Amino acid sequence: MDDKYRILGKYFGYSDFREGQEALIDSMLSGRDVLGIMPTGAGKSICYQVPALLLSGITLVVSPLISLMKDQVQALNQAGVHAAYINSSLSESQISKALRLAAAGQYKIIYVAPERLETYEFLQFARQAEIAMLTVDEAHCISQWGQDFRPSYLKIVQFIRGLYRRPVISAFTATATEKVKEDIACVLGLCDPYVLVTGFDRKNLFFAVETTRQKDGYVMQYVQEHKQESGIIYCATRKNVDSVCEKLCAQGIAAAKYHAGLSGDERRRSQEDFIYDVRPVMVATNAFGMGIDKSNVRYVIHYNMPQSLENYYQEAGRAGRDGERAECILLYSAQDVAVNRFLIESKEPNPDSTWDEIEQIRERDEERLRTMNYYCMTTGCLREYILRYFGEMGTGRCENCQNCAREYEETDVTQAAMKIIACILESRQRYGINVTAGILAGDGRAKLREYGVFEYASYGSLKELREMEIKEIINQMLVEGLLAATKDKYALLKVQQAAGDVVDGRRRVLLKKVKEDHRKAETGRASASAKMRRSDILNSKGLELFERLRALRTEIAKEEGLPPYIIFSDKTLVDLCVKAPFDKSEMMQVNGVGEHKYNRYGQRFLAAVLDYTKGAREKYYFGDAPQAAAQGASGQEMKAPCKKKADFSLTKEQAAAFPYAEKYLVAELAEKLNGLRDADTTKKISGAEIFRRMQALEYAGEAVQDGIRRKYVTEKGRAAGLLIGMRRSKKGTEYEDIYYKEEAQRMVVAMVIA
Ligand code: ADP
Repeated sequence: MDDKYRILGKYFGYSDFREGQEALIDSMLSGRDVLGIMPTGAGKSICYQVPALLLSGITLVVSPLISLMKDQVQALNQAGVHAAYINSSLSESQISKALRLAAAGQYKIIYVAPERLETYEFLQFARQAEIAMLTVDEAHCISQWGQDFRPSYLKIVQFIRGLYRRPVISAFTATATEKVKEDIACVLGLCDPYVLVTGFDRKNLFFAVETTRQKDGYVMQYVQEHKQESGIIYCATRKNVDSVCEKLCAQGIAAAKYHAGLSGDERRRSQEDFIYDVRPVMVATNAFGMGIDKSNVRYVIHYNMPQSLENYYQEAGRAGRDGERAECILLYSAQDVAVNRFLIESKEPNPDSTWDEIEQIRERDEERLRTMNYYCMTTGCLREYILRYFGEMGTGRCENCQNCAREYEETDVTQAAMKIIACILESRQRYGINVTAGILAGDGRAKLREYGVFEYASYGSLKELREMEIKEIINQMLVEGLLAATKDKYALLKVQQAAGDVVDGRRRVLLKKVKEDHRKAETGRASASAKMRRSDILNSKGLELFERLRALRTEIAKEEGLPPYIIFSDKTLVDLCVKAPFDKSEMMQVNGVGEHKYNRYGQRFLAAVLDYTKGAREKYYFGDAPQAAAQGASGQEMKAPCKKKADFSLTKEQAAAFPYAEKYLVAELAEKLNGLRDADTTKKISGAEIFRRMQALEYAGEAVQDGIRRKYVTEKGRAAGLLIGMRRSKKGTEYEDIYYKEEAQRMVVAMVIA
C-alpha cells in the first residue's frame, strides 16, 4: 500500500484523502515547496503531518498561537506520533530539555512560535539537526495585506537563510486574497511552489442572517434550545461580551468569556473550560479563536456584524470542523456598521507603513466593511455570496442557508430606481445614502436645507416611501452594481454604467422581501434545523447509544486530562453508532479510529457497544445503507427523515406553464421550476441538482485549472443548448458560467415531468 495511505490509516484512522490533500502531500514528498489555501476545517494539518512522518528528519511547524500548538501536539500524541512544542509557556529548563530530546531524534514534528526562531539556542539546534521541512501555519500572518499581520512572521525568512541546508517549505492558510498569496510566496521565498486553492465551500455549515433588535433574547433562546451543544458567540466589544456572558450565566448556562481585557490567567482558564466542555459556551471578542481546534463547535453566533467577510468566514468556520452539521448565524443591526467604522478609524496603523499604504489599507477596510454589510442585506443565496467573494463560482442556490430556505415576494421597483438615479445625477454624485434617501423622501431636516437640496426636481420625488424603504432599494442597486459607493468613509453614491439599462427600460430592478406569513412560520427555524442534526442519521436507539458513548468519552477525557474531542470526535461517535462494531476489524472501519487510538480506547468502546446491543445486529440509523448514513454524518447531504415531501417533479400541466426565455442561468432555471411545483407536497430542485444531471449526461463538467474550479460545457452539451457565457461578480471580476438556452430548458423540463 502507498506509504501515505498507510500513515493516514494508522495514525489518523482515515481511509481516504480529502480534496487537495494528496496532491499537496505528493509535492512535499518530492521536495517541492507548496502553498495550500484551504478553508478552516478542510484538513490542512494532515497535509503536513503525513509527509512529516514520511520524510527523513524533523518538521518544524511555525504557528502563531500557543493554544494551537498545545492542541495539535496533544492530538498527535494521542494518535501515537512523537511531537512537541517549544514556546514561552515552557520554562527555560523545559525548553533546553525539549531541544536536547529533539536533537536526539525524539520528535518528528516540533511546533514553534515565530519569535523562537531568532533565539541563538534554537538556531544552533536547527543547524545541527536534520530539518526536513519547515511548515508555516496561518501563513497569511506574514502579509500586512492580510487581516492578522504579525511582524514576528517576517523572522521566518532570516531563520531559513541561517540554516546550512534549505528544507522544503510548506505554507498553509485559510484565507488569502491575490495580494496576500503573492506576499506569502514572495516574502517566504518559496521556490516554484505548487499552489493549491481548494474549494472554499463548507457544505456542513448552515448560514443565516437575522435582523433583530432583540439580540439578547435571540441568543438566550437559541442557547437554551441547544443546551447539549458547544458554541461560540462573538461580540464586537468587551462590554457586550461581559453583558451577554452574564445574562447566559444568570440563566444557568455554563458560559465562559474571553477578551483582551481579562488577565492572562482568566483567559487561559476560560479557554480550557471551553475546550474541555466544562463550560461549552464561549462568549468572546475576535481575540478568541485562531488556533482553537475544538472540533465539536455546533454553532457560531455573531452578536455583531464583523468588519469583513474574511473575518466572518474565518470565525464562522470554527463551527463544525468535524464535518457534522453546524450553524453560523449573524445577528444584524444597522448600528453595527457605525461601530465597525469607528473601530476601523481608530485602528493603529503599522508603524513601518508609508502614508500611501496606510491610506490604501483604510480604503480596503472600508470596502470590506461594505461587502460585509451587503452580505447581511442580500436576499440571494448566502453561501453563493461568500463563495463569489472568494473568487469561486457557486451554483446559484445552495439549499442550505436561510435565504434559500425562505420564500420571497418580488416587487418591481424599477420606477423608484430611475428616480434614485436621477436624484444622484442631479446632486452631482456628491452625497451618500442617508442624504440621498432624505432628498427623495422630501425630508425637511436642517442639514438638507443647508445643502440647498430643497430646490432639486428630485426633492420629494419618492415621498410615498419611507426613508428606510428608499435605502433598501439603494442597497439593492449597490448589490446589483447599478450604483457604487466611493471607498472612503463618506461612501458617496456614484451611478454605474449598468444603470443605463434601467434608465432605457431594458432592465428591471426587483426587490425581494420575505413573505410575511413565511417569516412568522420560520421563527426558530434555525433551531429546528439544528435539532435535526443527529436525528437525521441516528434513530432513537442510535441516539441512546450515542449518549452512552459520549458519556464514556467524557469519563476517559477526565481520566486522561484531555479535551473529549481529542479522544474521539462527534463524527467518530456517530459512525460508531452507525457501524455498531463487535470486534477489532469492524471497529477499525470506523471513521477516525486509527491503530493507536484503537489500542488505547478501542476495547472500552467495543465493550460499551456490546453492552448496549447485547450482541444483536440492529439498525441504529435511518436510511438504507450505513454508507449513506455515515456520509450524512459528514454533513454532505442531510435530509430530515420527518419531512414527507416527495422529490421534485412536475405534472404535465404544471410543466406546460414553464416560462421559456432566450437563456437562463441554472439558478434562474431552478427558481422557475420551483415556482411551478406544489410547495406543500413537493421538495424543491436545486441548481446544483440540475448541474449534477447535466454532468451525468456528460453535457457539462467541472475541472480544476490553475488551482481554480471551473465549469465547462462539452460538445454534446453545446448541441443540447448549453453555453458558456461571461458574468461579472459583485467585485467586478469576470467569470464564466453556464447558460441554458431554450432547447436546454425544454430538455430539463422534460426530465422532471413525473
Ligand atoms: P484545518 O486546519 O484546515 O482547519 P484540520 O486540520 O483541523 O483543519 O482538520 C479538520 C478536521 O478534519 C479534523 O478533525 C481532521 O482530523 C479531519 N480530517 C482531515 N483530513 C481528513 C481526511 N482525509 N478524512 C477524514 N477526516 C479528515
